[in-house]
Amino acid sequence: MKILVANLGSTSFKYRLFDMCDADAALLAKGGFERVTEYTPCIEEMLETLVNEGHLQSAEDLDAVGFKTVLGKDLSGCVEADERVLEALDGFKEVAPAHNPAYAEGIRCFQSKLPNVTRVALFETAFYQWMSPAAYSYAIPKAWRELGIRRYGFHGASHKFIAERSAELLQRQDVAARARGLYVKGPGEFNGKPLRVISCHLGGSSSLAGIQNGVSIGGSMGFSPQSGLPQNNRVGDLDSMAIPYVCKMLGISVEEAERQLNKESGLLGLSGVSNDARDIREAAEQGNAEAKLASEVLIDSIRHWAGSFFFKMGGAEVISFTAGIGENDAELRAAVCADLEGLGVKIDPEANAKTIRGAEGIISAPDSKIKVMVIPANEELVIAREVYRFKQAH
Ligand code: ADP
Repeated sequence: MKILVANLGSTSFKYRLFDMCDADAALLAKGGFERVTEYTPCIEEMLETLVNEGHLQSAEDLDAVGFKTVLGKDLSGCVEADERVLEALDGFKEVAPAHNPAYAEGIRCFQSKLPNVTRVALFETAFYQWMSPAAYSYAIPKAWRELGIRRYGFHGASHKFIAERSAELLQRQDVAARARGLYVKGPGEFNGKPLRVISCHLGGSSSLAGIQNGVSIGGSMGFSPQSGLPQNNRVGDLDSMAIPYVCKMLGISVEEAERQLNKESGLLGLSGVSNDARDIREAAEQGNAEAKLASEVLIDSIRHWAGSFFFKMGGAEVISFTAGIGENDAELRAAVCADLEGLGVKIDPEANAKTIRGAEGIISAPDSKIKVMVIPANEELVIAREVYRFKQAH
């Protein structure tokens, strides 16, 4: 089954073509365009390239196209990318301005060019759709809640992959199967031994999720991907009262405050050096106190959220790290897990130090009660798998 994954960034368009057969995925082609202002010409060029390079006889040969949509109003899950999805993206275009209009354009383009090729949207919020109302409700007036202001959670594709893979690594096929079938069958009853995972996706954009027996109980991101941990240049959690206060004291508009929180905050705002964790580490090592603080705030925030999920789930069997920082930064992983022997977390320094750059492995000591893992992210593959499952089920 030939599945194309279309990744529409705010300024880029990337794609991968997979040939899927059960759990096996062969990557046939990948490519992309930078500094994109219009997606339609890129999609046309990509389809031409895939045909010219012999991956497809014609564009109609595609079995499905998958889109990693971010946030939809009143809609989530892994669903056919039809008018309902377009409406849902439009309904929250102000909340995800860099992503929703891009995906709407991409979906419309495939709809008109290849009407017979199945289009599937996998929302980043999908993994959190079984969160309890207590976990997703903000304490705000009813009229606000009726606008859809609540916690949604993001990076769902990445965290769902962790739910499956961590269970496989522990030979917990029961939980792996439950996580795999989630968007097709729903969570159903679970009577097995608990498997509780604290999943840390740490990259340019970062979030934690609590995963109980393959199903998420919550995430660190809330109404928008603006919340939770400090991000590369986005603020993360902030007391809502800070905004009116800053607007008044600095004489700036809400829009300007929002711009600063989006572009000049997070690790960049704190360190004053860079939005890249590598530059920040280097500056901190050279004695830059603000860079050191930025690293410490990130670590503190990860521990804050990990602690929250540990408590909510009544413990954990796994702590997992993924994405650019999570996979590469052994020092940060050690700092996140430091002084937790009382909770049953003990890192193996040697295994930790050597597990970098796309390597998968367990980095806790053999006698650590909680297994600490590194699992490389591959979001395109995750989408291709979900699209494949969707096609099999429909
Ligand atoms: P994104 O979240 O933007 O899709 P990634 O998951 O690749 O991208 O994460 C990018 C982040 O990973 C950057 O902040 C970068 O600094 C960080 N990173 C990459 N390599 C390392 C490393 N060796 N040590 C620390 N951080 C790293």
